Amino acid sequence: MKTKKTETLHVSVGYTCNNACLFCMESDKELRRQLVQNFIKTDHMYHEMDEHQNIKKIGFGRGEPTLNPELPRYIAYAKKKGFLEIAVISNGRQYRDKEFCRKLIESGVTEFIVSLHGHTPKLHETLTQGKKSFLETTQGLKNLSELRRDFKFRIIVSHVVTKVNYKFIGNFLKLMQNFSIDEILLGVVRPYNCGGMKNFFFALMPRYGAVAKKMEQLIKKNRELFFSKDDTKKQYVTINDIPMCSSWRLIELMGNRRAWVSGNDVKGEEYEDELPKCKEAKCQSCLYGKVCGGIFKSYTDHYGWDEFEPITK
Ligand code: SF4
Repeated sequence: MKTKKTETLHVSVGYTCNNACLFCMESDKELRRQLVQNFIKTDHMYHEMDEHQNIKKIGFGRGEPTLNPELPRYIAYAKKKGFLEIAVISNGRQYRDKEFCRKLIESGVTEFIVSLHGHTPKLHETLTQGKKSFLETTQGLKNLSELRRDFKFRIIVSHVVTKVNYKFIGNFLKLMQNFSIDEILLGVVRPYNCGGMKNFFFALMPRYGAVAKKMEQLIKKNRELFFSKDDTKKQYVTINDIPMCSSWRLIELMGNRRAWVSGNDVKGEEYEDELPKCKEAKCQSCLYGKVCGGIFKSYTDHYGWDEFEPITK
């Protein structure tokens, strides 16, 4: 459960989920349900926190953590044990209840990471398979935004970029301007060979080049959408999980700030071992070759190498 590289203790507390996202990579939900329920019975979560008090941050996630009635108690315990940052990673549906949000904040949450995958009910719910999920999550973001007037905590919105929604990223960023948000993470869906991605690869996995092109157009036309409405100098959108050879033009366009694009080809990323990557002969001439671990093999197995060109300037 511990991830050394990010110095965050990740704990799985959701034994069920009220969405059924098409790209969900969990292929054995029943096993997770049994494990989490067993942890609840045996107080395993409290032991996890006792054992890792040297870590600065704790993240409650997997499944849907807000459906676990113990969550406020876990959060309060984490606070008592001295974790400085306490995050909840959620689909945000339960945040439709403002009093529940208040309870979590008063228990000790410092960061809400909320998933929203479309700017309309139809688009979001095509991906989540959850009726009313758009309405509930956006109401949740509204409630959290309002509570920021009385409490100090961060709100991060996570948007999984798929073939279904990448053409609408601009509309999504426009919708986000209605809320008070610290950071928006656009993460291109990972090409796992398990869970939903195994069954819907071609329906869900966009071409990296197509996503980058869409982003380029958007930056040229609506650059303001990448900046927070609360602080118009703050660039608050980051793009994750896109190879450097697809995205280097985006970095140039936004003023060469490497920080806002994170490639899934960088060596040493935490999921490097989970998903094998590969390189081609042409990578030898790439200026980025020394730090690049390659492209996910499951991606190139399906789409080939034609779209990737080495970076030479
Ligand atoms: S080394 Fe290969 S995979 Fe990596 S950025 Fe360069 S061309 Fe792309």
